[in-house]
Formats: sequence, C-alpha cells, structure tokens
Amino acid sequence: MEAAKQAILDLAIVGGTVHVPAGPVQLDVGVKDGGVVALVSPGTLPPALRTIDAKGLDVLPGLWHVHVHFREPGHTYKEDFLSGTTAAALGGITCCLDMTNNDPHPTTRDTFALKREQVAGKALIDYGLYGGGLYPKTVADLAKDGAIAIKVFNTRHVKEVYPYISELGVVDHGILYEIFEAVADAGLVCSVHHDDSEWCKRLTFRDYIDQGKTTVGDYFDCYAKGYMYGHGMVAGLAASLYYARLTKVPLHVLHLGVMPAGANEMIRHAKRALGQDVTAEMESAALFMTRAQADKVGPNAYLWAYDAETHWQSVLDGTADMLVGEHAPHTFEETKAGWQDNFSVPLGITGAQEFIPLVLSAVNAGRLTLTDVARLCAEAPARRFGQYPKKGRIAIGSDGDFTIVNMRQRTTFTREKMATRSGHTSWEGVEVTAMPVYTIVRGKPVMEMGKVTGTAGYGQMMRGVAALRP
Ligand SMILES: [Zn+2]
Repeated sequence: MEAAKQAILDLAIVGGTVHVPAGPVQLDVGVKDGGVVALVSPGTLPPALRTIDAKGLDVLPGLWHVHVHFREPGHTYKEDFLSGTTAAALGGITCCLDMTNNDPHPTTRDTFALKREQVAGKALIDYGLYGGGLYPKTVADLAKDGAIAIKVFNTRHVKEVYPYISELGVVDHGILYEIFEAVADAGLVCSVHHDDSEWCKRLTFRDYIDQGKTTVGDYFDCYAKGYMYGHGMVAGLAASLYYARLTKVPLHVLHLGVMPAGANEMIRHAKRALGQDVTAEMESAALFMTRAQADKVGPNAYLWAYDAETHWQSVLDGTADMLVGEHAPHTFEETKAGWQDNFSVPLGITGAQEFIPLVLSAVNAGRLTLTDVARLCAEAPARRFGQYPKKGRIAIGSDGDFTIVNMRQRTTFTREKMATRSGHTSWEGVEVTAMPVYTIVRGKPVMEMGKVTGTAGYGQMMRGVAALRP
C-alpha cells in the first residue's frame, strides 16, 4: 500500500458516486497503466497526472452496446468504424459488438481477417467482432481468429433485399443445428436473430403488400399485429431453443424487444424450468419508441413500443439479461421511398449515441436504478461475451473503463448533434433528462463534456474466449 501511495497515477476520478457491483458508494478511483489500482475513501488518493472532478456525477463501469452495425466493410457510405465509434463514445459507450451483414460478410477465415484489418486503426473505443454463422465448417476458424461470438440470421427480409442480405439467412434448420454443434464445440455463444421467414412473408403479402397497404402506417400496423418481426420470430425461437438444448450451445437471443409476449414466456421457461444456458437482449426502442415518434420518423425506425409493459417486466424479472440500443443506420436517400412502401426499403434505426441517455432518463423516471444500468449494460454483457471480470465492473484489477454521467443534464436529440454518417436520428426531437459526460476507455478519456477527445485506433479488439484460451 505504501508503494502504491507513492506511485503517480495516470488518472484520478474524485468526488463522484461510484457504482461498484454492490451499489453506489462515495469513493475515489485511481487508474494506472489502463487498469483500476485504487478505490479509496474520498481525498486519500496519491497524486495523478490527470484528475477528473466527478462531484455531483455518477461513475458507472464502462457501458456496453452489444448490437451495432457499423457497416464496414461494404456500406461505409452510411457508417464506418470511425463514425460509428465516435457516435458510441459521445453516447457513453466504452465497448461495442459489431454485427455481420457486411459485404463481404465475415463468415470465413479470409473475410473475417479482411474485416479485422479494415476496422483496425479506426475505433475510438474497444470492440468485439461477431463471426458470421453461415457455414458450419468455418466456425472453428472464426473462433480461433478472435470472433467474440457467432451471429446467425435465421431470417430473410420479406422481399429478400438488404439489410439482412439473403445469402446470410440460415433458414434451413439442419444447417442451423450444425452451426450450433460447431459453436458449442468452439466454446462460444451463438447469437440468433430468429424468424420463420416463409410464415412472415406469406401473411405480410396476403394482408398488406398484395392489398396495396404498404405505407409506413400500414407497416407499423403489420408490425404490431405480429406479422413483420412477430409471431414468426417466436416460432423460430421455439425451434432454436430446442436445438440449442440438444446441442448444448449457449444461446443468446437477439431482438427480444420486437417479439410478441410469447417469446418472453419461452425464454423464462427455458431459463427457469429447464436450466438452459440462454440469455436475451432487449432493444431500448421496445421500451421508449412511442407510436407518435415512429410516425414522425417513418422509415427511419423499424419498430415502436407497442407492448412496452411486457418488455419492462422482462427487464425487471431477469428474462432479458441486457439492454441494447440497436444501431442499424441507413441514409435518408435509401429509406425515403419507405413513406409509400416501407416493405421495400432497408429497415433500421439509430441508437449508438442515443441509447444510454434514453436508459438514464428511464432511471430519472423511476423505472430502473443506476445499479440496474451497471448490471444490464456492463456486467451482464461482459460476462456473457467472456470479458468479465477484466471488463464489466469497477474493481481493483479491472480495466479503467468508466461512463461518468450527469443525471440532471437535459438534451434534445437533433440530427445536427449526431456523429453517425447516416445523417439522421430516429429520436429526432426527443428530450432526455440525463447525459454521459465522460467516456473513459482503459484510463483514457475518449469523450469529455460532449467533445470527442479520443483518437482513431486507440480502441482495441476484444477477442472471444476461444481465442483467449492458451
Ligand atoms: Zn441488428
């Protein structure tokens, strides 16, 4: 302790309320060489090269966003790793996981390597790359080469157009089963966007597209009725849960927030009655996107919170393990035709920069506590994707990742404030009541008071557990 006292810290965070796993405490935090080395009573830290005064602020573990589409390689006109991680840093995110619907898609050793090389040198924050689950035979290579987990699109767009990329869709359950076997062997988690694409397509065409009912309003009705992103997803989940149980693959359920209530019941049953290794992520839009806001931004939001209370219950009772802000940007140019025909345009939403402020506002509204936020947005994802306890908590020996928040700072989202290259926000005009004010990655502030202070290339790739094993 004496030696530690004499050492000069790289960073001191003083005067704040620090959210350790047990809850909020008044402590000062010292960081050296990227890691937490001191958690002490206020006023007792050794000297530091840089001190952040966090009086009146809350110091959370670095918050994660495990569902982003930063569009690289292939669609960098609407986002890339620099613009995407800039948006995330401004939004208080220290770690993100990037999805696989790229061109080329990272489903083989070569295309995964190409993606790794292309994004290296661009990220402001730490990131994990999903390996694309398409060929059972390439899963072991992707795992060895550092994939954080394997993502499967058990779906296709209703008109088989972007954003899912038809060839990425694994709609043959035999192949899905073989991918599960391979992912279980590799020791990774398999994350699945479930669906029953033929069911979805048939009924959506029958009752909407073939009837000429294709406007944004028609689309949102179709969505709430459970055709688009609906009951077919629950049916897909049912099959997948059973095959995951047979193959013993750890299953991570994507898009719980767009599925009808039946999905929540199935996951609850799998976890509690069957003891299955399954986790699920909840889109913040399923909790916060009002119909009025969805009508306002039209084709630039693909969902609205038509059953928010069911989803809140799942967040509070542990059916959903983590929150995500789904960031799937497209340009206005690509989506403008959606006002007339929303079944023919790429579907997406923005959320890299807006996610955490929305969640923090829910704390102010009494829906959650900051202890919940630390669990849902840091500890749970770090655990599930094999990075805990290095990440996901504030403790001696963990990385110096922090999201420092001001629970009284109000902001209204406008496109001018957004770093996403897509040029818009699905949350245009929405007011939030709290904001992240520092994003700190391994001891280095990459965002301070709404200004980017990080540099491209500082962010490191977090490798999956299969690549970390000796
Ligand atoms: Zn997505």
